[in-house]
Amino acid sequence: MAAREVPALRATGGCLCGAVRYQIRGPLRPVVNCHCGQCRRTHGNVAAYTSVARADLVLTEDRGLKWYRSSEVARRGFCRNCGASLFWERLGEDRVAVAAGGIDPPSGLKTIRHIFVADKGDYYEIADGLETLPAGHDDSTSAVKKI
Ligand SMILES: [Zn+2]
Ligand SMILES: [Zn+2]
Repeated sequence: MAAREVPALRATGGCLCGAVRYQIRGPLRPVVNCHCGQCRRTHGNVAAYTSVARADLVLTEDRGLKWYRSSEVARRGFCRNCGASLFWERLGEDRVAVAAGGIDPPSGLKTIRHIFVADKGDYYEIADGLETLPAGHDDSTSAVKKI
């Protein structure tokens, strides 16, 4: 590989047990809370995700990382040792959603919106005044995208 400057480290993170650790070497999107049924099932509650370019996510420890094909179009990365939910990836896209809770504090991130609120759990209310979208949105454009 040709010599090239290593991009600056923006964040580090990992799972509960340390069997998955990563570095993020590029800009992080603000956090979006996903209320869809799949996120609630796998995270145990609403899922908070930032998003980064696939190439900016550097795994420094991946012995625990396992991918679960959660739908026709996406897969979820989790730690097979401690069970932490870490990543969500739409197949074929060059971005990966990173669970905000796995990022080492201070993350410097802010939550900006809620998505899939039409599917939200019935045991809580959304009362923080942030933007809400009934369905999803496209990471790159933030245009509403129905799935
Ligand atoms: Zn783990
Ligand atoms: Zn979701």
